[in-house]
Amino acid sequence: MNAGVITVSYIGAGALFIMALGGLSHQETARRGNFYGMLGMALALFVTVIGLVTDNQFFLIAGIVGGGVIGWILAQKVEMTQMPELVAILHSLVGLAAVCVGYANALDHGNSLSGVEKTIHDVETYVGILIGALTFSGSVAAYLKLSGKISGKTLQLPGRHLFNLGLLIAAIWLCGVYIEHSAIGGGIGILLAMTLIALIFGIHMVVAIGGADMPVVVSMLNSYSGWAAAAMGFMLGNDLLIVVGALVGSSGAILSYIMCKAMNRKFINVIMGGFGTPKISTAGAGPAGDVGDVKSIEAQETADLLLNAKEVMILPGYGMAVAQAQHVVFEITKKLQDKGVNVRFGIHPVAGRMPGHMNVLLAEAKVPYDIVYEMDEVNDDFPSVDVSIVIGANDIVNPAAQEVPDSPIAGMPVLKPWLGKTTIVLKRGMSTGYAGVDNPLFYKDNTRMLFGDAKDSVDAVLRSLNSDS
Ligand code: NDP
Repeated sequence: MNAGVITVSYIGAGALFIMALGGLSHQETARRGNFYGMLGMALALFVTVIGLVTDNQFFLIAGIVGGGVIGWILAQKVEMTQMPELVAILHSLVGLAAVCVGYANALDHGNSLSGVEKTIHDVETYVGILIGALTFSGSVAAYLKLSGKISGKTLQLPGRHLFNLGLLIAAIWLCGVYIEHSAIGGGIGILLAMTLIALIFGIHMVVAIGGADMPVVVSMLNSYSGWAAAAMGFMLGNDLLIVVGALVGSSGAILSYIMCKAMNRKFINVIMGGFGTPKISTAGAGPAGDVGDVKSIEAQETADLLLNAKEVMILPGYGMAVAQAQHVVFEITKKLQDKGVNVRFGIHPVAGRMPGHMNVLLAEAKVPYDIVYEMDEVNDDFPSVDVSIVIGANDIVNPAAQEVPDSPIAGMPVLKPWLGKTTIVLKRGMSTGYAGVDNPLFYKDNTRMLFGDAKDSVDAVLRSLNSDS
C-alpha cells in the first residue's frame, strides 16, 4: 500500500479516536463516540495489516480472528457487574503485549544500530518493558481484588515506601547496566531482572491501595495501559500507536485526577498507598457514637410515602447493578412522574465499581439524561427532598466520611440524604460496602430499611404503586 495512503488513513484513524473521546464525554453522545472509536480501530487495523505488514500476514489475520472471536464470546457472557474486572484484565493484556514487543525488540532489532541511535533504542525497549510489566501485574492484582478473589482491603507492609524507593533506584540503575551490556550484544538477563522488579512493583502498588480508593487504581491502570501502548508505538516506529497510547494515557490520567478530586484525596497519596496521610483506623467498622435502632419498612408503606411526596431523589449504588434493578426503578419513576412527583437521580462519582457505572445502567434502562444529576448538583437540595431512596448504595451515602475523622473514608464527599425528610435504604442486610465501613445512616431517626434483594424490593414497591392507583 502506498505510504501516503497509510499516513492519511492513520491521520483519519487518529481523528476518529479524538472524536470518540469527545463523544464519550457526554451521555447523549456516548454511543456515537463509541461508534467513532470502533470505526477508527477498524481503519487502523485494516491499514496496518494490509498496508504495513508484508510477511506472516496469515498468522496476523488468524490472531485477529481468534482474538475477535474470544472477545465476542466474552462480551456476550460478561455480566454488567463483572465489567470492572473485565476492564482490569484487558488492561493487563496491553501491558503483556508491551512486554512481548519489548523482548522481541531486544532480541531481534537494534543490533544494526550504533551510537546515540542504539542508546535511544535500548532506552525505548527498557522503558516499554518496564511500563508493560507493571501495568500487567498491577492490572492482574486489580482484577483479583475487584472480582473478590483476593481481599479488597489495603495491605500496607511496614517500610513499604522504602521498599518502593529501593525498587525504583534498582530499576534506574539497571537501565544504565542494560545499555552497557546491550552494546556488546547481551543484556537479556538484565531485562529479566528489571521485569521481575516491575512485576513486584505493580502488585505491591495495587495491593497497598484499597477500600474507597480503588476507583483511582482502575483509572490509573487505564492510563498506564495507554503509556504502555505509546511505548510499543516507539519500539515499533508506529506513529498511530504513539498517538493513541498518548490519548489513552492522558485521558486516564485526567480521569484519575477527577476521581481523586471527587474523593478529596491527593493523587500522589493514593498511588503511594496512603503516603503522607495520617494513619487511619481500620476499626472504623463500627458505627460512630451512639446509634439508634434500625427501623425497617415494608414495600406498601414505601409506596405510600412515595405517592405522598413532592420531591423524590433516587441514589443508586453497586447493589442496583448486582440486582439489575434499574429497569423497574425507571418504571417506578414514570409512575411517580405521572402522579406529579418530581423524581431525580443523584449520582456519586465513584458509585458502583467503575467510573460511570451508574450512568451506564440508567442509560441501559432508558432513564432520560435530564433527570440524572451529579452529586454536586443535588447535594444542597436534600433539605427539600421528601423521600430519598438509596438503592444498593452504602459508602457513597455514609455520613462517617464527614463525621468520623479516623474513618477509612474520612474526607470523601458523599451524598447527604439524611438532610431530607425520609431516607429509605434498599439492601439485603446490614453488611458494609466496598470500603468495609459501617454506615451510621442506617441508624438515623429518619431512615427506614427496606430489606431484600433490590430487584425484589422495587418489584414489590411497583406492585403496591399499581394497586394504590
Ligand atoms: P458499596 O459497595 O459501598 O455498597 C453496596 C451495597 O449494596 C452493599 O452494602 C450491599 O449490602 C448492597 N447490595 C449488594 N447486592 C445487593 C442486592 N442484590 N440487592 C440490594 N442490595 C445489595 O457501593 P457504593 O456504590 O455505595 O460505593 C462504591 C464503592 O466501591 C466505593 O467505596 C468506591 O470507592 C468503590 N469502588 C468504586 C469504583 C468505581 O470506579 N466506581 C471501583 C472500585 C471500587 P448488602 O450485602 O447488605 O445487601
